[in-house]
This record gives sequence, C-alpha cells and structure tokens, in this order.
Amino acid sequence: MPKSCLVLFSGGLDSILACKVLQDQGVRVTALKFITPFFSYDLRHKERADAYREQVREKYGIHLEIVDITDEYLKMVTAPEHGYGRYLNPCIDCKILMVKKAMSLMDKYGASFIATGEVLGQRPMSQRRDTLRIIERDSGAEGILLRPLSACHLKETRPEKEGIVHRQALADITGRSRKEQMRLAKKYGIKDYPAPAGGCVLADPILSERFKKIFQKWPDFTPLDCVVAQVGRHFLLPGGSWLVVGRNKSENERLARLKGDADMVLRAMDRPGPYCLLRKAGDAEDKRLAAAICARYAKAGQMPVPVRLGAERGPGAEVYEVDSLPSQDTLAAMMF
Ligand code: SF4
Repeated sequence: MPKSCLVLFSGGLDSILACKVLQDQGVRVTALKFITPFFSYDLRHKERADAYREQVREKYGIHLEIVDITDEYLKMVTAPEHGYGRYLNPCIDCKILMVKKAMSLMDKYGASFIATGEVLGQRPMSQRRDTLRIIERDSGAEGILLRPLSACHLKETRPEKEGIVHRQALADITGRSRKEQMRLAKKYGIKDYPAPAGGCVLADPILSERFKKIFQKWPDFTPLDCVVAQVGRHFLLPGGSWLVVGRNKSENERLARLKGDADMVLRAMDRPGPYCLLRKAGDAEDKRLAAAICARYAKAGQMPVPVRLGAERGPGAEVYEVDSLPSQDTLAAMMF
C-alpha cells in the first residue's frame, strides 16, 4: 500500500488538520477541493484556482487539486437518496459523491486511501456514527476511508492495519467542542483559517427556497441558473419568465457577466437603474411587466419611464414606455 492519500478538503480547519495529522506521519497528501455552483465555484477560473492552490501551499504546506463535480452534483441535488439537512443541503449524499469521486482519482494520484476531516458527533446529521458508516458503505470506500481526527473512536481501517499510519498517533476528537482542534492548530502553527461550514449556499435558508423553486419549475436547470440564483432580487412572472434585478453596482456588474445567450437585458434608458436579466422569457405580457419592475427599481423621476429590452445598444431592442409602476404587494407576490 503506497504511503499516499487523497483528503477531501473544504478549506475549513478540520480538513486542514486531517492533512497535517497525516503529513506528520510521513504520508504524501493530495488535498481535493471539489467545486459546484453551490460552493467554491469561483475556483473554476484558472487564475483564481492557481492563486488558491498557491495560498494553501504557502499557508499550510498542502498540495491541492481542484475537481469540478458539477455534472454529477446537479443530478444528485434534486433527489438525494438520504434526504436533506435543515435546508436544501444534501450533506450525506454530497459526501458520498465526493468520496466516490476521490476513489475514482486514486490511481491518478497514486493514493492508497482516502481521508476526511469529519469529526464523530460534531454535526447532528452528517457526522453521527451511523451516518459515517453509511457514507463509507454507499461510496464503496469501506476500509479505506480514514477520519484521522476521530480515528481512535472508529473501526480500524486498512491503512492503520497495514501500518501505513499509526492509529495511536491519530486524534481522538468527538463532539462539538473545538478545543482539541485549537490545540492541534497551535501545534501545527495554523493561525489563519476560514470559519467552519461557510460557503455552501444549499444550507442558506433563503437561497435554498429559491433553488427549490428553480428545481421544480425548470427541471432541466443549468449550472448558470444555480449561479444567477445567488445574485439580486428574483421574480417569477405569470407567463413563466424569470426576472433578476441587481440590487447594487456590484450585483449589476455581476449579472452583466453572468448573462447567458438566451437572456435579455432590461435597463431604464433615461435614468440610473438596475441591470435586469429576463430569463426563460415567456409572453409579451411578461416582457411588459418585466419592464415595469425594472422601472420600479430605477431612480425616481418623471413618468413615463422608457425601458429598453433586448439589445443593450444599437438596433434590435424593444422599448417599453412604462407609465405605471407595480405595487409592493404585486412585487411581493412574484418574488421568490
Ligand atoms: S454543507 Fe453543503 S458542501 Fe457541506 S456537506 Fe452539506 S451539502 Fe455538502
């Protein structure tokens, strides 16, 4: 068995410590950072990925690889076999998928086992003893999935049995207290690390409701839909269109970058206002209503408000003269 492993790396302290504890035993560690539209998706840009890899290497001495699992994830997220957590977070299936993906990469990286930063009893659903076993069983990683931070409380794994790692030198952390993690962080000189569990938008109460609606309404939703859903105000119009309205300059700029080929842009023509995207555009009524909503969020001024829909400049745009604005109740009824 080669003295080499793959570690699921969220970037939080537990995953950093899992890497450090194994490196301490002379194991060659390759950390895998998974990305999907729901977490760490900005790392699909090469420059950001390179910068992040460099940062992890410099700060923690950990070699990192970034793995995009979007396709598999979108198939899983609408119907996870083990259900959801508090919101739309399918934590058990998410981990099963990541472990499975890591297993498929073992040959490529010459790894003989997989490790995670999971801690027995730290989270109510996904880190219970029975859940840890389900993750092992359903990913097919039984015997080769090591949790170095709780190893002393769990069944011995193959790398321990074969002496690749020494069980007695692994940690025995359980529960929600972070005391032992703090002690280990100090031991390894780790001072600067992100807060636990940050960054997964499926565990966000508002966004998870929005995703739920998108999954139901557009079963063939795309990664772009999932990213756009995280920016701005959202309206579901009566004809089935999806209108997104930027709330500030940075959201306006972000929406402009996210505009898909089939999306239409709406902007008030004679006054400052939000960047609006009309997606999955339905009928003419929806377009008129979208223009009125766009006008509603534009800076107040004389009526009517001319709103351009379609081409951002030059010919090809439709212009709507909006002379009455939708009420707050009308907006609230369509907001999602
Ligand atoms: S919080 Fe999100 S990323 Fe973390 S295990 Fe759950 S679903 Fe996966």
